[in-house]
Amino acid sequence: MNLILLGPPGAGKGTQAKILEQGHGLKQLSTGDMLRAAKDAGTEIGLKAKAVMDRGELVSDDIVIGIVSERLDMPDVQKGVIFDGFPRTTAQAAALDKLLASKGQKINAVIEMKVDDEALVKRITGRFTCAKCGTGYHEEFAKPKRLGVCDKCGSTEFTRRPDDNEKTVRDRLQVYNKQTAPLVDYYRGQGNLHVIDGMADIADVTREMEAVLRQLKA
Ligand code: ADP
Ligand code: AMP
Repeated sequence: MNLILLGPPGAGKGTQAKILEQGHGLKQLSTGDMLRAAKDAGTEIGLKAKAVMDRGELVSDDIVIGIVSERLDMPDVQKGVIFDGFPRTTAQAAALDKLLASKGQKINAVIEMKVDDEALVKRITGRFTCAKCGTGYHEEFAKPKRLGVCDKCGSTEFTRRPDDNEKTVRDRLQVYNKQTAPLVDYYRGQGNLHVIDGMADIADVTREMEAVLRQLKA
């Protein structure tokens, strides 16, 4: 089964993808994480993407489609994928349909997560991540149980993304509304769009997602 979590930056896509991965044998595929790894490793793609990402703009379709295409050939994603942050343009959506069709697969559901802009800014400016295991936290909404210690691996080192500042967030929201929001109609046209209230608590959003998955399996 292949799912797309569609929503603006800070909607909770990564948070929910990591939770859903556990119970359903699916693998999260975050193009943002892949590009950040390329950037940190100093690869050619990473070097090309860095300035674009820091400005909050979109990396070129060719680059992103290329890395997704390679990733989908790997054995660990054959049971199904939760796409997080991809596709972000109609060209990417069309390319994904083609890639999956060539493997005899398709997108089974697209879950659109709706969150108000001011809540998104608050979520993103308070977001931080464990430097060791990558677990995501929020200063107010998802604090570690012990202040300054990662729940999962015990590390005391955390990082913040350079693009998680208020100015860049607002620019990223504009980019989302212009380039990515048209995908809602694209997938509604395919008949597999499900809309959920992303303003709810993390656990309630998970419950809504699980309800969609149950519907798909029924
Ligand atoms: P995305 O992957 O869509 O950019 P994240 O999953 O990283 O968003 O969530 C952004 C921030 O908001 C994180 O710090 C996360 O802990 C927090 N968050 C995620 N979902 C919710 C929610 N439903 N309510 C409050 N905060 C949330
Ligand atoms: P994210 O981690 O999803 O918030 O993405 C962080 C940044 O990576 C974005 O602001 C873009 O610059 C880049 N990026 C991630 N996914 C894509 C994509 N599908 N298409 C283009 N750029 C992307």
